[in-house]
Amino acid sequence: MASVNKIIKSILNVNDVVIDNASLDLNERNEKVLKVHLHPQKKEMARCPICGCKCSIYDRTPKERMWRGLDAGGLIVELYYRVNRVVCPNHNVIVESVPWAFHNSGFTKDFDMVASFIALATNKTMAAKYMRCDWKTILRSLTRTRNYIEPDPKKRLDGLVNIGIDETSYCNGHNYITVVVNHDTNTVVWVGLGHSTETLSEFFELLT
Ligand SMILES: [Zn+2]
Repeated sequence: MASVNKIIKSILNVNDVVIDNASLDLNERNEKVLKVHLHPQKKEMARCPICGCKCSIYDRTPKERMWRGLDAGGLIVELYYRVNRVVCPNHNVIVESVPWAFHNSGFTKDFDMVASFIALATNKTMAAKYMRCDWKTILRSLTRTRNYIEPDPKKRLDGLVNIGIDETSYCNGHNYITVVVNHDTNTVVWVGLGHSTETLSEFFELLT
């Protein structure tokens, strides 16, 4: 039989952590909240969030930080941990990375990615309603997810041989964008506002 810790780790969908304890609570809006106190396993503790190198610990925050996770069975999920500040040889004193969240985020990776998926499949207002957060959170989730999936968008232009160019309108045909695709990989490599020669020149100027 699976232990309670294993079940909670599965609900959180996160590896390399140790669950310290978990409790059920009610928040100020009378919603049920699953509060999970946890910490990274030793091998994942005190790592720089930028370069990932193992660092020495500088100090520890006196209070636990909270991350909002994906809802589970109607429960709001919150993760708690007292983060360390670490000394990275490349990035000086910096808050350590945690396995469940992107750097500088108050939400888990899963939250960010699901919020982004819903926002792209529907719209930001719908995503905010579904995720029970405000739309500015959705914007930040989209940015973090994009940075994770594609840290360097300029690489899209590497090895470009066969391209297709098209224009499409938005706002009921009042505004246009120019879209360039890579026919070899079937991916969009560039989008520019407008549909003039100048717009397309912006794309060609990016090429070496
Ligand atoms: Zn670093």
